[in-house]
Amino acid sequence: MNAVEIICKKCGADTLLRREALYDGFAKTGEKLTCSSCGHEYASEAEVPFKAKSAEPRIFTEADRSAKVELFDEGENRRLCRHCASYIVNPFTQFCAVHKKEVQATDSCQHFSERGDSEEGSETVPL
Ligand SMILES: [Zn+2]
Repeated sequence: MNAVEIICKKCGADTLLRREALYDGFAKTGEKLTCSSCGHEYASEAEVPFKAKSAEPRIFTEADRSAKVELFDEGENRRLCRHCASYIVNPFTQFCAVHKKEVQATDSCQHFSERGDSEEGSETVPL
């Protein structure tokens, strides 16, 4: 049987749970759960302060979260007005053809539609 690690509520020890079968004559009636350090008895499994196994999953979650943030930033970038099909730029102003108003290259809106001709990073001028 695997040793079950607990942090005892009574003595505070990082120790093991002792599990003993209780018998009424020859019939097993239940289990007695005690701290192997101080002998404190726990009334039921729900009372047992099992040692938390959350250290690993927590690290994993944090790595997960930062990865998601990066993805979100990239998505945000790709919705900028300067990548939009409706973005018109001339020497005097930057203009949105959808909203009929002046915009900034770094603005973004929900009517964004990706410009088909030039993908980001491949702005080679045809000769
Ligand atoms: Zn104890």
